[in-house]
Amino acid sequence: MSNQVIVVGGGLSGLSAAHKVLERGGNVLVLDKNSFFGGNSTKATPDINGALIKTQIGGPEIFAQDTARSARDLAHPDLINFLLEILPLLLNGFRRNSKMFPGMTITYALMEVIEEIANNQPDRARLIKKERVTKLIKEGDAVIGVEYVKDGQTCKEYGPVILATGGYAADFTEDPLLKKYQPDAKIKFLAAEALRGVGGLLLNGEGKRFCDELGHRDYVTGDIWKTKVPVRLVLNSKASKEIEWHFKHYVGRGLMRKFSGEALAKEIKDPFGKKFFHNIPITITDQFHIALMSPILLYTMDGIDINAESEVRDMQEQVIPGLFTSGEIAGGIHGANRLGGSSLLGCVVYGRVACDSASRYLFQNLFSATANRRLGQIVEQLAPYQTTVSFDPTNQKVHLEISWSIIGTLKR
Ligand SMILES: Cc1cc2nc3c(=O)[nH]c(=O)nc-3n(C[C@H](O)[C@H](O)[C@H](O)COP(=O)(O)OP(=O)(O)OC[C@H]3O[C@@H](n4cnc5c(N)ncnc54)[C@H](O)[C@@H]3O)c2cc1C
Repeated sequence: MSNQVIVVGGGLSGLSAAHKVLERGGNVLVLDKNSFFGGNSTKATPDINGALIKTQIGGPEIFAQDTARSARDLAHPDLINFLLEILPLLLNGFRRNSKMFPGMTITYALMEVIEEIANNQPDRARLIKKERVTKLIKEGDAVIGVEYVKDGQTCKEYGPVILATGGYAADFTEDPLLKKYQPDAKIKFLAAEALRGVGGLLLNGEGKRFCDELGHRDYVTGDIWKTKVPVRLVLNSKASKEIEWHFKHYVGRGLMRKFSGEALAKEIKDPFGKKFFHNIPITITDQFHIALMSPILLYTMDGIDINAESEVRDMQEQVIPGLFTSGEIAGGIHGANRLGGSSLLGCVVYGRVACDSASRYLFQNLFSATANRRLGQIVEQLAPYQTTVSFDPTNQKVHLEISWSIIGTLKR
């Protein structure tokens, strides 16, 4: 086994894993099929979740319950538990009205630092871009490396592998899963949930509200499909002010325009059971920011089955040695419906968990290979005797058996 952990994918999850490998003293190779790192992570806009941060109400238990409820009980509780441990200090740096997109900011920071390390210490970190990983190399049941194609040639790299290749919602390659599941998909801009979080309303083609805007995204999307189009997202001036930098981004791209409020619904008592209304009252004399809305394919729900160590499991739920995964490609964390903001959280958390597991696996294997080599040398020195020496990496114990012959009889 080579002395490196291989990370496939240079998005937030892959880079989180790669940095953790370096922190732990290991060497890392990051491969990405694009000419630049970042993946979808640099597009992620206002939301990153975290238990125990200033904006979270109710503590880790409430966050875990929300995640499980949103996942429709399809997530593994032990995988959810890890989401509660993310660095509150880091996340407290981000505010909704801040001029920072957390996905972009964190991912760029990780990119810059790893590029600097790769330049200054090429034996510690290697970055390969514009090369697509096409195959996992196996030895028996274990994954021992990857194959990628460079200038038409197949190249091989060896080491435990962390897959962090993201989802397939924006896969427009030749034979994508996207074509199979949503053949008419087009590229659109995401209207971040934060726009609804600050009090943005959804109005249907008749100017009526048709759902609880704070409901889970699968519920909101389902109701958009059912209602009369066009669906408009409406932010009054208070809501716009709270999320100023973000709405300017949408206005700047021509996705939102300013309107007078004459045609807008003004009911406050909610027929859909919505309990929280921010930045009210909505008055007819106010100015509004309005965008046309339609559902989009944003995220790949669930994926490769992992356990709480980020180890990949096969169809029989057996761990595949040497293979780990994190980020959007990893399944079992968000279940049927991901909470807005929890993907970035999952990327950082499981990137780090995957690194821990891959590093441990690498060190254990390197250690056992070195130990067995040393033991082989000892055996040679004990040649006159019949000697069996073995090293068991699971309990890190050496078994030594010496036997010798007296007039043809074997003694132990
Ligand atoms: C517009 C938008 C806004 C979003 N906003 C939010 C938000 O506010 N909050 C939130 O939590 N989530 C948000 N998400 C979701 C979140 O951004 C993603 O789920 C997350 O960034 C995925 O990170 P990742 O590291 O798993 O994958 P990515 O960041 O997509 O990185 C995967 C990388 O793997 C590379 N790759 C893929 N296949 C191969 C291969 N075979 N060989 C080599 N390299 C390969 C890709 O080139 C890519 O660079 C948003 C998504 C979008 C599209």
